[in-house]
Amino acid sequence: MPPRTICKTVRQYNSEPISETDMKKLQEIAKDYSTVKNYVYQRYGGIKSLPKIYPGYTVQNEMTASGLRTTLGLPSVYFYLAVFDALGDIKNQWTQTKSRIEKCIRENENLTPEDRHYLRFVMKQSNCFACILMKQEINLSQEWQKSYEEVRTEVDEEHLKQYLRRQVRRHMKKLHTDAIDGFAVAERAYRYDDGGIYLAIKEKRKRVFIPLTDNNHYTKQLYIRLLPEEGSLVIHVPIETKIRQNEEYRREIGVAVGIRTMFVADNGAVYGEKYSEYQYALAEYVREGNIRYRRNKEKNPGRKKYMAGREKLEAALHTYINAEINRMLRTEKPAVIYLPKLPQSSRAGINKKINSSVSMWQKGYVKKRLSQKCREQSIELKEVFGKNISNECSRCGAIGEKRDGIFSCGNCGANLPERENAAKNALKRGRISS
Ligand SMILES: [Zn+2]
Repeated sequence: MPPRTICKTVRQYNSEPISETDMKKLQEIAKDYSTVKNYVYQRYGGIKSLPKIYPGYTVQNEMTASGLRTTLGLPSVYFYLAVFDALGDIKNQWTQTKSRIEKCIRENENLTPEDRHYLRFVMKQSNCFACILMKQEINLSQEWQKSYEEVRTEVDEEHLKQYLRRQVRRHMKKLHTDAIDGFAVAERAYRYDDGGIYLAIKEKRKRVFIPLTDNNHYTKQLYIRLLPEEGSLVIHVPIETKIRQNEEYRREIGVAVGIRTMFVADNGAVYGEKYSEYQYALAEYVREGNIRYRRNKEKNPGRKKYMAGREKLEAALHTYINAEINRMLRTEKPAVIYLPKLPQSSRAGINKKINSSVSMWQKGYVKKRLSQKCREQSIELKEVFGKNISNECSRCGAIGEKRDGIFSCGNCGANLPERENAAKNALKRGRISS
C-alpha cells in the first residue's frame, strides 16, 4: 500500500525584526496583489464571465492584454498568482452558489419532480447553465441534446429558467478584498539561502532578505503574511506529509473536554490546565478593545494596534493548545480516542466572564487541531453519545452528584474528579459501541 499523505500548513518566522524600508517594499506587493485580485473579481465575478473562468486561459490572456500589470509595475510572478488566486475564489463562489441553489430546489415544495429533474440537469451541464443565465440559445452536443429534449418536455421551461436566474442573483455575493496584508509567492520569486529567504520585489533584480528562525527550504508556492505593526511576517507553507504510524500507540482512551482545562483523560491525567488563563486574556483583550472602539467611534480610531495585540494573544493561545495536544498524544499513546459529543446547549451558561464567542470559536480550534493531529498520526478519533456522560457513575452506572469538581456516587461510593469520571464514561461508551 502506498504511504497515505495528508496536507498541512507549516509556518516560518523571521528571526530579526524587518526594517521599515523592507516592510514597505513587501507592503507594496501586498497592495498591488489585492488590487489585481479586486480587478479580477470585478471583471470576472459576474454571470457573463462564467464561460471564461473554466479553465481560465481566456482570463489569463485578457489580463495580460489589460495592461494592469505594466501600470502597477508588479513582477509577473506575483501578477499571475494574484489572477489565479482570485479566479480560484470566483470558482469557489460559483460552487457555493450552485450548492445553495440545489438546496433551495430540494426544499421548494412548489416544484414538481419533473421540475427538479430539469433544474438539476441544466445545472450539471455547465454550458446549459451559462446559456440560461445569459438568456442565450441552448446548444448541446447531440447526445446531450437528446436528454435535454427529454427533461424539458413536461415542464414550463421559461418559468424554470427565470427561477434559476433569480436564484443565482439571490445567492451570488460580490467578491471583494480589503486585505492588504499578504500575497502568494511562486518558487521563481524566492530563494532560500544564508539562513533566510530572498523575496523578489517590485524593483528589478532586487531582493528583500528575511532571516528566518529555521533552516528549512521548501519548493512550494508560499503565502507571505505581513505583520507590519510588529515588523514581522509569517510564511505559510502547504506541505504534504506522510501519515505516521506509531507502532507503540495502541491504547484506547476516553477524554473529557473542558472549559477551564482542555482535556482530562480517563486515567485522570490533565492536559491544557492553563487553557482558561490564555483564553481569558484573549477574551478580556477583545472585550476591552470593543468597549474602547465603541466609545471612540466618532473619532474613527485605527484598529491596527488592537489587531496586532489580539493576534499576539491568539498566537500564544494556539501555540499552547498545540503543545498540549502533542503532549497528550505523546504521553497517552492512543490508537483510539473517545470523545463525548456535546449538545450545543451545554455550552451556554458557562463562565459568564468569558466572552462566549471567543470561547466557542477557540473550542472549535481545539477540536480542529486535535482531529488534524490524529489524522496525521493515524489515531482514530471517535465521538460517543454525550448525554448524562458527566452525571453517570463510571463504576456502577447510577446517577451521582457533582460538587466542586468532584463526582460522588451514592450507590457504590465512587468518589473522583468530575472530568475523570466523564472521561471514564467516554471510554466505556466507546468500547460498547465499537
Ligand atoms: Zn457508582
